[in-house]
Amino acid sequence: MTKPEKLSAVKGMNDILPGQSERWQWLEAQVRDLMDGYAYRNVRTPIVEHTQLFVRGIGEVTDIVEKEMYSFEDKLNGERLTLRPEGTASLVRATVEHNLLYDGGKRMWYIGPMFRHERPQRGRYRQFHQIGAEALGFAGPDVDAELILLAVALWKRLGLSQWRLEINSLGQPAERQAHRTALIAYLEQHQDVLDEEAKRRMYSNPLRVLDTKNPAMQAMVNAAPKLIDYLGEASLAHLRGVQAILDANGVPWTLNPRLVRGLDYYNLTVFEFVTDLLGAQGTICAGGRYDYLIEQIGGKPAPAVGWALGVERVLELVKELGTDIPTPQPDAYAIVPDAGAMPQVLTTLTALREAGVRVQMHAATEQGMGSMKSQFKKADASGAHFALIFGGDELARGEVTVKALRDGQGAQTTQPLAAAADWAHHLQSRA
Ligand code: ATP
Ligand code: MG
Repeated sequence: MTKPEKLSAVKGMNDILPGQSERWQWLEAQVRDLMDGYAYRNVRTPIVEHTQLFVRGIGEVTDIVEKEMYSFEDKLNGERLTLRPEGTASLVRATVEHNLLYDGGKRMWYIGPMFRHERPQRGRYRQFHQIGAEALGFAGPDVDAELILLAVALWKRLGLSQWRLEINSLGQPAERQAHRTALIAYLEQHQDVLDEEAKRRMYSNPLRVLDTKNPAMQAMVNAAPKLIDYLGEASLAHLRGVQAILDANGVPWTLNPRLVRGLDYYNLTVFEFVTDLLGAQGTICAGGRYDYLIEQIGGKPAPAVGWALGVERVLELVKELGTDIPTPQPDAYAIVPDAGAMPQVLTTLTALREAGVRVQMHAATEQGMGSMKSQFKKADASGAHFALIFGGDELARGEVTVKALRDGQGAQTTQPLAAAADWAHHLQSRA
């Protein structure tokens, strides 16, 4: 038989293995707890949606819809489907489909994998994960600020420093229209420095030209007409409302008039949390208001605001800052000299586990249970504080030997097998 060829994961899609998954679970636990504290409720939507949802919900002239989506045809019925590239469109679809706003605004959050066909590099993957928080049905700057404060609270819990908050306002459609006219006129005067993409987008989505990463266009873009100069009093008041809450809560921010966000349908407040520690992929969290999206997806018009963070980038920053993550270790390691004792051993281990003790069991190999020495070596390597020795003599007496492996090394007691729940608490090393 020829040896089967080794298979590997799809490029840009990563396995999250023990050693890393503890960091993910730690972050997820922090997020769950925090969202509870802000009364945001969890939502889980399908990973596959109709392609049309993203075309309408993200916008035709965007990087995502133009070139990044994993789309395919359902073989059975010919439907055009797409692996979700982001979470907001799905959440809005679910809100409309289930009429969630019938009795007022809703605060929700999600977590999960997203898919974009981009060039893989540090901080940019083809399957990546987002956590998003969205408040639907609320119009005021107070909720914009609440969402920003929620993100700041998360950074605090994760021990993250060295981020900065950039904010801007995209105003309302009429204000954008006036700015758009001026911007197109300006771009027409600078055709010579526009790249192909910019030329293509200057009439369909000129604001996105300002979002370019092309260094050759930066000077031109910096001097372009600024949307903020076209905002009316109501839009400016909304922006000042957000800023006032941030100031009162000691959250530093800078106004970045070039911040436009990649997706269509944003209005008023937009913001990004950026760090310089992650190279080119420095945006860890981005969001803003999207008061027109719900209607765009077929719902009754209602305002909305939200953000999404990139889990990989946030964890990368956690690592960069050297934050300590608690790694779970067993409290006890079960040493079993004779495989014949296993039925009895497992009964005791189950009782201990039910009493809250984390126990790792020594397992048989093809060579048997292994020597006591090798079992003790494994026990040490496991990080457990205690070894439970299920020797033949002990078992015959209905007992197990408990030996301290670390603090008070070597100290030894015997305990009755039948009453594991009574002595289980001695084994718990966790706080
Ligand atoms: P970028 O300008 O970096 O492409 P974007 O505007 O496409 O970002 P959003 O759609 O706003 O990003 O997504 C929100 C966050 O999700 C980003 O700020 C980033 O942290 C993360 N993110 C986006 N795309 C990827 C990716 N391909 N790999 C890893 N994280 C990503
Ligand atoms: Mg992108």
